[in-house]
Amino acid sequence: MPVPTAKMMSLNGRVVPYDQCLLHAFSGAVKYGAGVFEGLRGYWNEERQELYVFRLAEHLERLRYGMRVMRLEPVYERAFLEDALLAMIRANGLRENIHLRMIAFLDGDDELAATGPVGLVCGAVPRPRSKAVEEGVHVAVSTFARLADNAMPPRVKATGNYLNNRAAELEARRNGYQGVLMLTERGKVSEGSGACFFMVRHGALHTPDVASDILESITRDTVIALAREQGLAVHERTIDRHEVYAATEAFWCGSGYEIQPILSLDRLALGTGAPGPVTRALQRAYFDVVEGRTEAHPEWRTPVWGNAGRAAA
Ligand code: PMP
Repeated sequence: MPVPTAKMMSLNGRVVPYDQCLLHAFSGAVKYGAGVFEGLRGYWNEERQELYVFRLAEHLERLRYGMRVMRLEPVYERAFLEDALLAMIRANGLRENIHLRMIAFLDGDDELAATGPVGLVCGAVPRPRSKAVEEGVHVAVSTFARLADNAMPPRVKATGNYLNNRAAELEARRNGYQGVLMLTERGKVSEGSGACFFMVRHGALHTPDVASDILESITRDTVIALAREQGLAVHERTIDRHEVYAATEAFWCGSGYEIQPILSLDRLALGTGAPGPVTRALQRAYFDVVEGRTEAHPEWRTPVWGNAGRAAA
């Protein structure tokens, strides 16, 4: 099924139709997979008639950090990135839940050590909530190790990194699973192919620390904040594979995934094998905050249409 990308895109800061959003087939992005990207979501609030982009500032800062680390020069200013994204959304008149992608890529026909020119592309896809959020997923541990920080930077959303995630995801699907949990080279729990991992043990939340070869996920940061607001203890630490089998609940989270319960790992049920109460409470808090159904954390929601001012109140 073709992906229903919204008809207007943004290329190098200009709004262009989908079929004119083109780059040369010999660009560095194609030759070397050289680029960094972001995946964000926009949430439509019917009552306020407003579309909120969730944690836009943090996504743009991570993109800029990624450009710096991957030596893409010059690093775009935050205002340029924000304007390009918002202009594209407005050109499409989007008033529904959407997924947004921004890619800063190596353009031009130069060799491996090129640092520019750098192109920027932004697009949107209407995306309602996945049924996995309600129903949960069955997950396998990957035979592919998560890429190590001294080889490729997991905390950068570099496009080339995702060949590692893709191999893991494809393996899991071939074997009949809905998702994959990757381990570090040392065999410790790292993350999913597009989401960060959490588990509940002894009434507390545990998640791999940022040195476990994970992306420094914005949703992970959000979940940690919401959990602490609910009075839950959160431990960021090294996690063993066999600890996960003892979890009473588990879930993973990401901008695209939102919060999805993990029902089993390697066909071993986690807890009761159904979405648990801690996961459900965090999902409720998460959707309230992203959809602007609470006054809390207005700084996390950027209104696209300007109906509600910068804060949600
Ligand atoms: N890990 C990986 C490998 C990812 O691709 C993503 C999706 N960006 C995440 C975790 C979740 O990150 P975020 O919450 O910032 O979307």
